[in-house]
Amino acid sequence: MTAAPGAATPTGHPGMADDHTMWRDGAFLPWDEATVHVSSVGHASVSASFEGIHAYATADGNLAVFRLADHLQRLLTSVRLAATEAAFTMDELVEASLELCRRNRRRSDTYVRPWCFAKGIHREQMVPAGSPVEICIDVWPFTTKLGTPLTATAVVSSWTRFSPASMPPQLKAFSNYHNGRLGNIEARARGADWPIFLTPVGHVTESSGANVAVVVDGVLTMPSLGSGVLDGFTRQTALQLCASLGIPTELRDISRSELYTASEVLFLGTAAEVLPIVAVDGLTVGRGTAGDVTATLAARYLRLVRGELDEHREWLFPVW
Ligand code: PMP
Repeated sequence: MTAAPGAATPTGHPGMADDHTMWRDGAFLPWDEATVHVSSVGHASVSASFEGIHAYATADGNLAVFRLADHLQRLLTSVRLAATEAAFTMDELVEASLELCRRNRRRSDTYVRPWCFAKGIHREQMVPAGSPVEICIDVWPFTTKLGTPLTATAVVSSWTRFSPASMPPQLKAFSNYHNGRLGNIEARARGADWPIFLTPVGHVTESSGANVAVVVDGVLTMPSLGSGVLDGFTRQTALQLCASLGIPTELRDISRSELYTASEVLFLGTAAEVLPIVAVDGLTVGRGTAGDVTATLAARYLRLVRGELDEHREWLFPVW
């Protein structure tokens, strides 16, 4: 049974069923039984990594998880970059994720959240190298913003993006997200929705949970990976969609002032999807609405994830 929208549920998340099931280290189990000892929480969380994945209801009545294998491979890369060990292969995690969607009878748009943390109780100050991780997967409903008039505003954060010399940007560790979290808090305090982080020498990197792109002279322009950004799958997808749409692209350093002069600024990410940014630091971007490239890309992305395009069907993992 699924609780009414907005109603309190055992999981605390609206729209989830009372008999909600999770996947944990190879077993499907009821939500209430997925517990850890309080002593394991703090230390294990320093080495914890995660992924955020969207599954979209498709035109043929199915539900398809977008780029599931890529996301789970990136989770395993995070495990490696954190010097920990996973006991599951990407294929096993793909099957577990799909079966979890089936067991929770998911048919509408679904957020899929795999995460992992050092197994057991660690008394050491640092989780030692080689520690095995426990992997969990949960799913819950989400509402897509694609196809809606949603736009957002941004400010350039006074916090710089952490340097790739400090921590690997491809490591999606929860602990890396303090940088983004502090930027979010500052952005909201300054009346904007999201931060954009610069490198210490002033090049644009990304937002707290999304990649950034600008449109300059009709060219979709993004920072290269050398700037320390996450190699986001929405970013990669946008580059490939631009190729088939005939929109030119370029990867290069982007200066702060280009955020103010670009005809379009947009965020790309699993959660952000393709999000038009209509003001940066209080300066209106373009006409103050979604620009042509952003609107074209967002429409194409929506058709792609809904299974309406012939291209890149290998990115769709049908649940049913
Ligand atoms: N940068 C950061 C810091 C992120 O957390 C995310 C979300 N995973 C992204 C970029 C976008 O990545 P993706 O498109 O793979 O979701």
